[in-house]
Amino acid sequence: MRSLWDDREARAHDGPLGQRVYASRLLGRDPSLVLHGGGNTSVKVVEPDIFGEPERLLYLKGSGRDLRTIDADGFAPVRLAPLLRLAGLEVLSDVDMGRELRKALADPAAPQPSVEALLHASIPAAFVDHSHADAVLAISNTEGGEARIREIYGDDVVVMSYVMPGFRLAKAFVEGPARQIGADTLGVVLLHHGVITFGESARESYERMIALVDRAEAYLDRRGAWVLAVPQPVPLPGNQRLELARLRADLSRAAGRPMLVRSHQGPLEIAFARRDDLAEIAQQGPVTPDHVIRTKRVPLLGRDVEGYALAYRGYVQEMAAGDAEPLAEVDPAPRVVLDPELGFLAVGTDAEDAVVTGDLYRHTIEVILRATALGGYRALPARDVFEVEYWYLEQAKLRRPGGDPEFRGEVALVTGAASGIGKACVASLLERGAAVVGLDLQASIETTFDDPAYLGLVCDVTDEAQVEAAFERTARAFGGLDMLVLNAGIFPPAKPIVELEPATWRRVMGVNLDANLTFLRHAHPLLALAPHRGRVVVIGSKNVPAPGPGAAAYSASKAAMNQLARIVALEWSRDGIRINSVHPDAVFDTALWTEELLASRAKHYGMTVEAYKRKNLLRVEVTSHHVAEMVAAMCGSLFACTTAGQVPIDGGNERVI
Ligand code: ZN
Repeated sequence: MRSLWDDREARAHDGPLGQRVYASRLLGRDPSLVLHGGGNTSVKVVEPDIFGEPERLLYLKGSGRDLRTIDADGFAPVRLAPLLRLAGLEVLSDVDMGRELRKALADPAAPQPSVEALLHASIPAAFVDHSHADAVLAISNTEGGEARIREIYGDDVVVMSYVMPGFRLAKAFVEGPARQIGADTLGVVLLHHGVITFGESARESYERMIALVDRAEAYLDRRGAWVLAVPQPVPLPGNQRLELARLRADLSRAAGRPMLVRSHQGPLEIAFARRDDLAEIAQQGPVTPDHVIRTKRVPLLGRDVEGYALAYRGYVQEMAAGDAEPLAEVDPAPRVVLDPELGFLAVGTDAEDAVVTGDLYRHTIEVILRATALGGYRALPARDVFEVEYWYLEQAKLRRPGGDPEFRGEVALVTGAASGIGKACVASLLERGAAVVGLDLQASIETTFDDPAYLGLVCDVTDEAQVEAAFERTARAFGGLDMLVLNAGIFPPAKPIVELEPATWRRVMGVNLDANLTFLRHAHPLLALAPHRGRVVVIGSKNVPAPGPGAAAYSASKAAMNQLARIVALEWSRDGIRINSVHPDAVFDTALWTEELLASRAKHYGMTVEAYKRKNLLRVEVTSHHVAEMVAAMCGSLFACTTAGQVPIDGGNERVI
């Protein structure tokens, strides 16, 4: 582990808080030190209050802030004096502590300070850094881990037994380890939890963290437990989407809400999921209780979700026994699944949640493997882990209910999504919390949206192998499919029937009709497993009810597609799948319409472009966004009792009416 400190970069950050921001980001840059909001940092300063009187403040990382990207306003200024008094109390409940921390804020608009506020306040140094370094966790989580830590660091660090984070940790620290800190102490190792370093400058504290973690890595390396042998890649079945969707359906049932499932199938993960000693090493508990709310205490081995849920309820009941107000509704679904065929799966309430859980467990695998190589992984007892889990669950109870986006935990696939109506559909579905896969011939599809909930895939919709591969990728990224939006289509230049080439006719039918049949056939088994039931939306056309001369191929293809959708409604209603169509007209903000084309069409009608765009009964301009919002509505509860519906989005058209 090397220091990333750069004097030139550091100079761009003014004052103690600026230095704090810079060093925090350096810490955040290394995922083996802190991951996704883990770890925290602080700096103590003296600032004048509104009366001009000097006041001692602790600037502490706001709860949930990410060290990678933190800014000055991500730190909460807390008055130091009340914090030090609080640390001296005999008892302090979580609710009381949360309130007192807010009361002690020098700025009421600041974020909620991290629960480690009292600990940071109690450390007699200006700068404090706290990480959950993988290497230290690997050593600490072994038989005789404490002795190993003492052997590595000698008198350079104070070693502290595990105490639950929050008030109890701060109190235990003040009464014990704080008294052992001397002039030469570099930091504190919290067994089964992490490392704290401190210093008079941001650099001193940061460099001490790097140096301490480097010594842990070197120790592991000397014992052949640092470099992990990457096993040979194992071939997996190429077709897993149905098995994944079935597993996701079970997980969603257990959780009582749609869940996303993200596959991790690298050689290391697969080899881990296939280890003979998996039950022994993976069922002990997390590498630090801090991860428990994302990963649950242990993963599910195999696919018996119901069995896991039953056992989890039993565990919560047993641990919470004697509690005056037992936890009412605990979601008993696992968050990590290890399966010899599917590899390691991260389960989340949305895409971001699944990504975080995946990252945390990916590091967990490495820590467990290193601890195993060192002599055997030993996690904390279930009781200690449960205390933290219970504490998080308690906090969740205090949170205000509601506010979940409509499609949270659901998956949509949109064809022809690089521009126009397709792109607008992706945006509307993302905005409602869905994970969305966008397909297009354009290579730009891969980067159309920058969002963990978005996956863009290049796909020729007329190539069945590519379509199947897209469904497979969808299932591995998100676990299944809930919504299918059939949008990809082509509109050839106008030609009377007598001049229409058969090749053009076939090409239009191939894209606008045949390709959609391929999508529907392959989507059906996935949609039938959707937790909230499958939905299909077809982007039709005004040409279905009101065809135009010169558009024979286009109009015929759209009309045939419309009839196909009606058959889908008849055949798939028994699976709870509904299908509805929109018939847009004159949507000009699409790739089909260039400025020149618009101008020439407007001229043809003797109109201005503006007037031409509103050439409908309501005199409104119909945009891709209008169509996309209707598509999203059709996927939502508003259309729960509607199938085979056809809705015009054309501003009103006499021929359609
Ligand atoms: Zn911590």
